[in-house]
Amino acid sequence: MKSPFNRRASTAIANPDLQEALHVATSRFGDMRKKAFESTAAPLALRASAREVRRRTFDDLDHHLETLFSNLGKLGVQVHSATDASEAVKTVLDIARRKNVKTVVKSKSMATEEIHLNAALKAANITPFETDLGEWILQLAGEAPSHLVAPALHKTREQVARLFADKVDPNIGDDPRELTAAARGKLREEFLRAGMGISGVNFAIAETGTLCLVTNEGNGRLVTTLPKVHVAIMGIEKVVPTIQEALTLLAVLPRSATGQKLSSYFTMVTGPRKPQEADGPEEMHLIVLDNGRSRHLGGPFHEAFYCIRCGACQNACPVFQTVGGHAYDSVYGGPIGAILSPMLRGLEASGELSAASSLCGACQEACPVFVDIPRMLIEMREARTLRHTVGIGERAAFRLAGWAMRTPLVWQTGQKLISRLLGPILRSGKTAWIPGPAGAWLKGRDLPPPPTKSFTARWRDHQKISKKNTSRQEMAPGQDGEKTIELARRTLAISKGISHVPAPPPPGPLPEVAIPDLIERFCTEFELAGGHSYRHESMETTKKTILDLANRFSGQPIAVSDNLPLTAADWLRESGHEVLSLSPPGEDCRESLSQSGLGITDCDWAISETGTIILTSGPNRPRLYSLLPELHLVLIPEECLIPHLSGAGPNIHGALTSGDTPPSCVNLITGPSRSADIGLTLVTGVHGPCEIHAIIIPADIGKGTTTSTGASSPFTLEDE
Ligand code: SF4
Repeated sequence: MKSPFNRRASTAIANPDLQEALHVATSRFGDMRKKAFESTAAPLALRASAREVRRRTFDDLDHHLETLFSNLGKLGVQVHSATDASEAVKTVLDIARRKNVKTVVKSKSMATEEIHLNAALKAANITPFETDLGEWILQLAGEAPSHLVAPALHKTREQVARLFADKVDPNIGDDPRELTAAARGKLREEFLRAGMGISGVNFAIAETGTLCLVTNEGNGRLVTTLPKVHVAIMGIEKVVPTIQEALTLLAVLPRSATGQKLSSYFTMVTGPRKPQEADGPEEMHLIVLDNGRSRHLGGPFHEAFYCIRCGACQNACPVFQTVGGHAYDSVYGGPIGAILSPMLRGLEASGELSAASSLCGACQEACPVFVDIPRMLIEMREARTLRHTVGIGERAAFRLAGWAMRTPLVWQTGQKLISRLLGPILRSGKTAWIPGPAGAWLKGRDLPPPPTKSFTARWRDHQKISKKNTSRQEMAPGQDGEKTIELARRTLAISKGISHVPAPPPPGPLPEVAIPDLIERFCTEFELAGGHSYRHESMETTKKTILDLANRFSGQPIAVSDNLPLTAADWLRESGHEVLSLSPPGEDCRESLSQSGLGITDCDWAISETGTIILTSGPNRPRLYSLLPELHLVLIPEECLIPHLSGAGPNIHGALTSGDTPPSCVNLITGPSRSADIGLTLVTGVHGPCEIHAIIIPADIGKGTTTSTGASSPFTLEDE
């Protein structure tokens, strides 16, 4: 009789649509991951460094969690501990009832899937809306996610189109752009009216009490900005000691997940809206979920907590590539899921998953933090056997095999017998002839024909040849000896690879790719990320570009952030454009902004290595100006450029720790809002801007007024 996993796997294998979707998606993600790491100076050292961050964190986890909770408390974030799923759910419901919440918008979160939050919200008459495009598709379909990063990876474009026609608009076509636009329209309404936003957490930075989200669509930013209450839910393993260490993990996460140098948005939320800020939640909660995690700290599977949920091991795993995520019947599928699921749900419920691996090691090779999944799978299997959670038949078969292996005569005779019996059948390719359980085992697997000679016989032959060669070498040393040394070296390298021990990170700072021209590199990377960049030598051309962009949205208001000189806004008004008044501090600007076509902001810093801009929130610098309009235009004074992502750490740290009112939100923006959740077709403008444009302002043009951050303003149009 087939086990539950085998039944689900058989169904998956027999589904041609799923097979097609899995093949295309996993191979494309794998290729993009490899390419993305090629752009770093030392990919292996970077990954080893990221692993070291995770290892060090768990050496002193209690301390980092205490620091995190203390800093969150100082910021006004209410921290709740939940020992299990029911406690976490109860906490969410209590907050929702107290705030009289009727609808909730959610960004993608594995922790909320783990605690089955949507079902609990619905049962309490609170309507949850998944806002990640892939998650929303699955919510419409009534299905669970099948991948850590691309939850609807198992669905083809045609299937999504049929679903939308059935549930959203009967006249809709199958163009991913049209389908995405329909989702944007529907979910924008829900964002604007939701009473609560619920998010997960990618990293929780202890030293500043900052909760970080890595997203591409912009829904994470909206969930943590528009509703009056923000509730974040995270497992205890998400803590990271410092901003710099979070940036090290950020350098490997999107590369491993989607092949991007950075995702479109890295959002760092540090407390609720400050009194002088125009947007952001008024109330913020963090629910810290244990749910069985702490009993594994320091145990044999402890290393599974190093996982940063990039999904690379899933894409690399031959089993996942064949059966997909639903076969695992768990929120966490694939190789890491085969460890995490039994850890959280118990060996009886999910221990079988540890057998769903060929132990080829592809998962660890792909993992950005080298989680030793193969070792843990073997130990999980051992634990399962010792606990007698495997069937009697399987145990008896392995006992018999163990006895045969320990008894050379039986083993060698058995090998010869099996080879004689099966050899002719397998060599003729008729594997389906094998009767009983062995026949079932061969379905979906290739069994190579048995070798004509056993290992022992080949070893004996090898020894004889070696002896002969040795005696020849003694007579004529030289070339042959060098070959032997080379062979030994290669064997050693292979054995090191097999031993699954990651290289330690090099001491000192990691080598970076040299960037001789910051502007040139920024523009190249910005455009590779889907943006449009301009390098102007005169204010006249700058004006023209801004006016051309504004003219594309005539009839729609323009949002201009405060740190630009007032004359700029006057000038746009004189050209016939409606420029939105900045909301008084604390007043909501969402309704007027959601009608806006163009949002103009400056930025605090820009990173050349990745084409990223960094924007802090602040008085009259609403978070939504760079998010709700269809097009975001950013003006970058050239002195704001910094070469590398790692160099942004001290700047962000300074912004969050100095001054009376540090920003409640810092966003790293790399390209427009985007998704490839429908048939892997890249579509921009899912929830945030469809386009992002950047004008680099040379220092000699930009001199004049001073911005609220103290930087020289780029926008001195009155100079003209
Ligand atoms: S185990 Fe490694 S590869 Fe797999 S999801 Fe976690 S971090 Fe990514």
